[in-house]
Amino acid sequence: MENKDYNIFSTQIARVLILQKYLLKVIILRKKQFKAESKKLLDMMINSIYTHKEIFLRELISNASDATDKLYFKSLTDTSINTDKLEIRIDLDKDARTITITDNGIGMTADELEKNLGTIAKSDSLNFKNENEGDENMDNIEVIGQFGVGFYSSFMVADKVEVVSKALGSNEAAKWVSEGADGYTVEPCEKDTVGTVITLHIKENADDEDYDQYLEQYKIQELVKKYSDYIRYPIVMEMTSQVPDPDNEGETITEVNDEILNSRVPLWRKSKSEIKDEEYNEFYKQKFYDYTDPALVIHSKTEGQATFDALMFVPKNAPFDFYSKEYEKGLQLYSNGVLIMDKCADLLPDYFSFVKGLVDSADLSLNISREILQHDRQLKIIAKAIDKKIKSELTKLLRNEREKYEEIWKTFGVQIKWGVYADYGMNKDGLKDLLLFKSSNGGYTTLKEYRDRMADSQDTIYYACGDSDDKIALLPQCEAVKEKGFEVLYFTDDVDEFAIQMLMEYDGKHFANILKDDFDLSTDAEKEAMQKKNEDSKEWLCKMKDLLGDEVTAVKLTNKLGTHAVSLAAEGYVSLEMAKVLSQMPGADAQMMKAQLVLEISSSHPIADKLATADDETLKKYTKILYNQARLIAGLTVDNPTELADSIADLMV
Ligand code: ADP
Repeated sequence: MENKDYNIFSTQIARVLILQKYLLKVIILRKKQFKAESKKLLDMMINSIYTHKEIFLRELISNASDATDKLYFKSLTDTSINTDKLEIRIDLDKDARTITITDNGIGMTADELEKNLGTIAKSDSLNFKNENEGDENMDNIEVIGQFGVGFYSSFMVADKVEVVSKALGSNEAAKWVSEGADGYTVEPCEKDTVGTVITLHIKENADDEDYDQYLEQYKIQELVKKYSDYIRYPIVMEMTSQVPDPDNEGETITEVNDEILNSRVPLWRKSKSEIKDEEYNEFYKQKFYDYTDPALVIHSKTEGQATFDALMFVPKNAPFDFYSKEYEKGLQLYSNGVLIMDKCADLLPDYFSFVKGLVDSADLSLNISREILQHDRQLKIIAKAIDKKIKSELTKLLRNEREKYEEIWKTFGVQIKWGVYADYGMNKDGLKDLLLFKSSNGGYTTLKEYRDRMADSQDTIYYACGDSDDKIALLPQCEAVKEKGFEVLYFTDDVDEFAIQMLMEYDGKHFANILKDDFDLSTDAEKEAMQKKNEDSKEWLCKMKDLLGDEVTAVKLTNKLGTHAVSLAAEGYVSLEMAKVLSQMPGADAQMMKAQLVLEISSSHPIADKLATADDETLKKYTKILYNQARLIAGLTVDNPTELADSIADLMV
């Protein structure tokens, strides 16, 4: 309850309120349980044999810095907020075994303490973990890294944590105390100034765990330099040192001075040559809550139409929510070192939504509103330059460090393929040379590499779709094309064929789906011969078509299948794969999305002769079996598998 409310109430009501508050205190002081999922994670955290326990300090400092940023940002529009001495203090007390981190940032109300420190992770994240439970490769810590569990890392070194905080604009302060997974308490307390004080009660040394080190000045100094050097606000610690006594020669006296431990130059402002890989990696992990080094670092300084520094990262693993609706793309936006927006979506095209990072520009006004920002010309220029920069860095990687590029591709390639397809292909030209596909040549290939390998006589780029590379390689049509010495691209992602359709051609060469009915590599003479065979066999082919009804548009003899008996091909624009994808989309009209299927029978296979001479009853049976087999080969389902199995068994007896 805020103070101003008291003023308008009579003393009578005020008394009731005070009584209520007292009751509330009694209730609140009963220990609260962390939300169930938090408790589990917290246990994991405390008991993890995580080797980098020391990161607790950078987590707390970066929270303090964020809170100070928030206050500073508010002060831009509210001049009553005093920002004269924004700093983060660290105090050590060896005797009491405590580290205290104090900030004069925006602070938290009792409610916020409860909300922010009572829940670790959204249940979404935990679901992700549960799904992967039992997966040996899944390092718990990496999962923890996906959450904003920053604050909880303090329990890796402390057995008790106290947080005293007073929020900006509030007259009451509150204290949150917890000794770990058991729970926590929140109670009102006294605090004069706005901000947060966090006290860690450091654990006693254990067998192979040295916690005492965190109570040493030099260690804290080292950790701040290592992890938090670029923090904008001074990180101040009282340092005691022995200096020569001016009055007594040969003697020393103890001097106590406040010292600033960090250089405060943001990493992105430094020149590339000054920065070690390790620094980039640490910065990334700290800022973007990852426990794995990034796959690619992009650091650029741009001058000209727009002047800005950008520091961007491609993560090694996709964030756990990357393929969900919850994922928000965007880069942090700084104006002259001050954070003005945490996720500026306009800075990143969707096809690079996996890129994390920040942009710092002096050209943007500080208290610009989000609405105005959207239409900001400067921002558009920056976004364009960023798009170009990411493309050129990825191209460079593709050229010079192929393996690294392929790793990134495996994780985020789908996103780039969608980029080719999206917005009516508006971005396809800029992206087409970043595309990789698996092919019958072995491994990944770019379209250019495929093009360079094409023989003069080959005028089309061949592809086939399926569930996996192996399955595609085994398709009858694919084997036949490979035998002729042509390379086939393997499309295994839903988006592949849509992207390629949007591309239409590459370097003057069109694309052909070898599973389409009109795909035919035979010579004119061979084609003519096949046409004649079809006409000669018209009677039984038509009977088969009638038996299958609407399921197929035709039954044909073909010479495209090598040694294999049957296959399905699609006629018209919609291929089999596209039909599968389209039919899964919400609101899909099943009839509209259906591919028009042609049942193809190999003319050189003995089954063709069998069919030609079969009586009506046998033809009916064979037709059903062959059609269902062709469906299975194409990766489609069979309507009545029992009937199919029975028919085959009948034939066997
Ligand atoms: P994260 O920083 O990833 O959000 P944390 O668990 O470290 O996760 O912190 C949770 C929330 O608690 C923060 O988002 C912030 O709102 C709040 N918080 C933590 N430390 C402070 C602080 N020193 N001052 C104000 N708010 C804080």
